Amino acid sequence: MSPNNSCKLSLFTWMRVESDGQKNVLPVCPIHLSPKVRFGNFGTGIIVTCHETKNHLVRLCDRQEFETEQEQARAKLDSDP
Ligand SMILES: [Zn+2]
Repeated sequence: MSPNNSCKLSLFTWMRVESDGQKNVLPVCPIHLSPKVRFGNFGTGIIVTCHETKNHLVRLCDRQEFETEQEQARAKLDSDP
């Protein structure tokens, strides 16, 4: 993993990933630094789980916080050459 490809913010470590020709910025597991995470709706929030070993919880957070931080991460990662 190249260091330019990820950044650590207050809620998550984010990584720039490309799948199906689409670039996206997704949270990664802080233990495994793995992009094998799933996230989904959980009540009014978002639950992020890691599928690297078993399924473990990465973080449960507010949807607004998730989206705000994803935007920050996107801006930060996209500004890297
Ligand atoms: Zn993990």
